[in-house]
This record gives sequence, C-alpha cells and structure tokens, in this order.
Amino acid sequence: MLSPAVIAHNSQLIRLDTNPPAEGSRRLFFGLDAETLSAHLMEAGEPAWRGRQLAEAMYRQRLTSLDAMTTLPKRLREDLAKMDVEVGRPRIVQVFRSVDGTERYLVEGQAADGQTVETVWMPEGDEGEAGDGSEEGAADEAGKSWSRATICVSSQVGCAVNCQFCLTAKLGLQRNLTAGEIAGQVVAVLDRHAVEVGRDRVNLVFMGMGEPFLNYENFMAAVRLLVEEVGLSPQRMTVSTSGIVPGIERFAEEPPEVRPKLAISLNAPNDAVRSEIMPINRKWPIEAVVDAVRQVRLRSRERVTFEYVLLGGVTDRPEHAREVARLVRRAGFPLKVNLIAWNPGPGIAYSMPTGDAVETFKRTLAAEGVPVYLRRPRGRDIYAACGQLKRTVEG
Ligand code: SF4
Repeated sequence: MLSPAVIAHNSQLIRLDTNPPAEGSRRLFFGLDAETLSAHLMEAGEPAWRGRQLAEAMYRQRLTSLDAMTTLPKRLREDLAKMDVEVGRPRIVQVFRSVDGTERYLVEGQAADGQTVETVWMPEGDEGEAGDGSEEGAADEAGKSWSRATICVSSQVGCAVNCQFCLTAKLGLQRNLTAGEIAGQVVAVLDRHAVEVGRDRVNLVFMGMGEPFLNYENFMAAVRLLVEEVGLSPQRMTVSTSGIVPGIERFAEEPPEVRPKLAISLNAPNDAVRSEIMPINRKWPIEAVVDAVRQVRLRSRERVTFEYVLLGGVTDRPEHAREVARLVRRAGFPLKVNLIAWNPGPGIAYSMPTGDAVETFKRTLAAEGVPVYLRRPRGRDIYAACGQLKRTVEG
C-alpha cells in the first residue's frame, strides 16, 4: 500500500512523464476541433470552412482516410497527404464478446508506441448510468439488437491511483491518453455499432482504465470534442473520479454545456476503511472530497453519484450502509448511490459479497431514505466488468 509521500511522488510523475511519444513528421488531425483544423488549413491557404468540412468527415461521417473524404477537393487531399497529415482514429484491434452481449475492445491509439487501452460496449447498460429507470429504451425501429447502450471509456494507459480492488492498478501508470485517443475510442465504437447520434440512446461513462482527473486537460478536451464535433450530449456522460480534489475543483468551473455528470468512487463508509482500500484517501479524505463536490453547481434534477463497490466482509455490512447513509445526509447535495458487487480478478485478495449481503445493504440504505441502485455486472466472463480492465487477452 502506498504512503502519502509515495502518492505525491506518483502525482509528480503524472505531470512530468506521461505524454505520448513525439510523432516525428506525422501530423495527427484526429483529436483537433474544427476551429484548430481551420487554423491549420488556413495556414495552407485554404478557406476556414474547410476545417468544419474536415471535422464533419472525421467525427460525423467517421471516415478514416483522406481518400474517402470526397467532400474535400482531390487537390487538397493530395496536399494534406504530402504534408504527412493523418486523419485516422484509434483502432479496435481485438474484440472479446460476452454471453450477455457486452463487448470489450483493445483499442490502439495513434501514437507510435502501439499502447492499447480497453473500451467496453454494454448494450442495454448496467442500470448504473442513469440508475433510476429514466433510460428505459424504446422499441428499436431500425432493427438493432439494442435499444440503448453504454460505452465505458478509458482515460489513461494503466493507472497510478492504486485502488486495492482494481486490476488496472496492477499495470501502474504507463501514460496519459491524448484527447484524440479518448474521443477516438468512442467514435470507433459508435462506428462499429452503426450508432446514429441524436437518434440512438448512448451513454458514456468515463470509468475505464485510468483516473480522468489526473489527465484533466486531455479528458476535458475529449469531452468538448464529443459534445461539439461528434454531437453527443454531456447530460448522457458521467465521469467517475477516485476523489482527486484539485480535479473536482477545476471541474466545478466548467460550463454546464460541456460538463458531464459527476460520480465519486466512494467504496467505503469511513476514512479508515477507505484509506485501506484506496490509498489516495490519505491525501484527500472523504470530507475534503465532499467539500470539493459542493462547489459543483448542479443542473436542475442533476444528482451526483456515489459509486460503492461491495467487498465481501470489508465494506458490505449493514453498519457500513448506515454510515454511508449518514455521510449522504451530511453531504447535503442531491445524490444517489450505485452499488456494485465486486468483480473478482486474479491476484486480488478480496471476496465477492454474498447475494444476501448485497440485498441487505441495499435495503438498509433505502430504508434510510437514500436513492440506491444496484449495477448489474456486465461481461464478467470476458474481464469487462468494473475493476477488471487490465488488457487481459486470454478473455
Ligand atoms: S479503480 Fe479507477 S482510479 Fe482506482 S486504480 Fe482502478 S482505474 Fe485507477
């Protein structure tokens, strides 16, 4: 387990060493917004509106080669190719399919280091993204086998936060993802499932590999791309943090038009237990996190989510539920609790909670007046469930 000093040391590393390797003469355009693309094209003597056209081609039409972008004149496409411009996005290089329809992907970024991250597609969601029944899907007119879906997106390769119950933590932090690599996971999955943005009900949860608030700028740049260029609603996006207080404070400053909903990965009823299973709690204890969340101005009917992983015998007792209820009351902002029964992973010495313990925990919270939902485990058989993302290729 890490001491606070070591955590601080790791945070230092995050700031200094985690950008993707330099790309030589290649100019990666996927990940740039229309305005930046326009600036690049104007430098090459093109009118500004060509930037918008290029953005449309990459993010709405989801084209991955200059050749396919026939809305641009051939001459321009040839010029861009000569300038080593690349318009391709991160690619799905491996697919693992669960019996429950969940798909886990290894996605390779655009950087030359060939690093992969994991992205998960959950048709019909896991009851956690809205958690209150408001996401019930309508009948599917287009003949798709799903009526709503959730995409779980990674923000870093590996993670430095070291939650003791999480397989991703075993990788350590390899590097940050760029905005293009974060948004690219989404666009690649939208394309694979022929999602019609604006018509199909797709939620995004930034709960895959990594801590989004330790890669804040790239994470928020990706959100802006997904909202402004891809056309997804920020109200259908949720970012989950382990409780990085400076990140939450920055998040509180974001304009609501591009701000996802916020989830706090709470996972324990008090600081003593939380510090054991999430060493980051020694740096930013529960009250500091709750104080920071109070600064976020919520939209009407918006609620913060407390994610709570039930670890058998460690965090799943009725007295823990009562402590969580007291914490919720003290917080004083609208919130709900999402329970997740821990998903086992090799080399992690925790137990799954019993079905009875899960039910009792949920009932106890509900009896205390706390809105509480139980997330269905999705894709356990392919290591796609919560806390299981570690690029497990034998899935
Ligand atoms: S639970 Fe999230 S923050 Fe914690 S180690 Fe795993 S990926 Fe990192």
